[in-house]
Amino acid sequence: MSESKVFYEEHGDLSLLKGKIIAVIGYGNQGRSQALNLKDSGVNVIIGNRGDGAADKARTDGFAVFEISEAVKKADIVMILIPDEIMPEVFESQVAPSLKQGAAISFASGYTIGFELIRPPEGIDVIMIAPRMIGPGVRDTFIRGTGFPSFVAVHQDATGKAEPLMLALAKGLGTLKAGALLMSMRMEAELDLFTEQAFGPAFGRVLVAAMETEIKAGYPVEAVLLEIIMSGEFSYTIEKIINAGLIEQMSFHSQTSQYGTMTRSLNYLDLPLEDKMKKTLDDIRSGAFTREWQEEQRNGLKNFRELMEFRKHMPISEWQKKTRAAFRSIGKAPEEGE
Ligand code: NDP
Repeated sequence: MSESKVFYEEHGDLSLLKGKIIAVIGYGNQGRSQALNLKDSGVNVIIGNRGDGAADKARTDGFAVFEISEAVKKADIVMILIPDEIMPEVFESQVAPSLKQGAAISFASGYTIGFELIRPPEGIDVIMIAPRMIGPGVRDTFIRGTGFPSFVAVHQDATGKAEPLMLALAKGLGTLKAGALLMSMRMEAELDLFTEQAFGPAFGRVLVAAMETEIKAGYPVEAVLLEIIMSGEFSYTIEKIINAGLIEQMSFHSQTSQYGTMTRSLNYLDLPLEDKMKKTLDDIRSGAFTREWQEEQRNGLKNFRELMEFRKHMPISEWQKKTRAAFRSIGKAPEEGE
């Protein structure tokens, strides 16, 4: 295993961005937060937007907004912060033809470059700063001064200056305060897909199985959900797992709890998780998942829509609503939020 390289504040030089125009393409989750962070770091940011959605918001936030190809023509660095699914088409039609020679393009995900859905032209730098943080968190942690961790990459170094440029941008975004881990764009994409396709579903399955077992045994829904996930004890334990350690945090629980967990853990040792996860990882690494997803998009998202419909009818949403209604202290669902 090779040494990991992590960059911090001292590795980034903001003065390298002086006199440069940075075009942020897309003003959504990441686009807005990243544009505001860079502006607050003294960087000259303009927005490229198709003009039917967030353009007004960007103007209200104090940015000049242009058609995407116009913004690209003006820019020394183009940050492509639109959804990955539409990126290849937008890149080909509106970004690539307008790029200045010697410009840099920057991504917040390795997916399109890593899986060769976008083949960048020669003569430009291609870099990645992929926050391990949702958009609002990118902004909140910047304001708080703690920053957010990220994965970073230099995919193509046409100018010989791509790495210092990437680090300057990373500093302006605030990620070097927390640390930025160097890797390839393909690796970032593979790790991200694996979390979504192996850890997420397996974890969700465990959660639902535990709830179903108790509800089928006759315990009230509100009691089951409060016990397993809704009280906040669970998220507090996750915090302790991060800060103290998975094993070390066990000492915060009673001896009864520790004894029960340790002895009954053995019952779950033979779950065939690793074989299934390995299959998922193989599909990701071979490109089979990416080909399947491209095909699904070409077919008008038929399966995707059916699955979205199916998930609407899963009983857990009703169970959660019921539990939220029973306990005033429990947070509201995002769509019910104030
Ligand atoms: P969003 O879905 O929030 O992006 C929305 C923006 O994209 C809007 O400005 C929208 O324009 C624009 N857009 C949508 N469709 C089109 C189109 N057909 N043509 C032109 N513009 C379009 O994206 P995210 O911020 O979630 O993701 C951006 C990148 O960041 C992706 O690479 C993603 O993988 C990565 N990322 C995202 C994270 C997250 O927190 N969501 C976390 C880490 C990385 P309009 O306003 O006109 O609708």
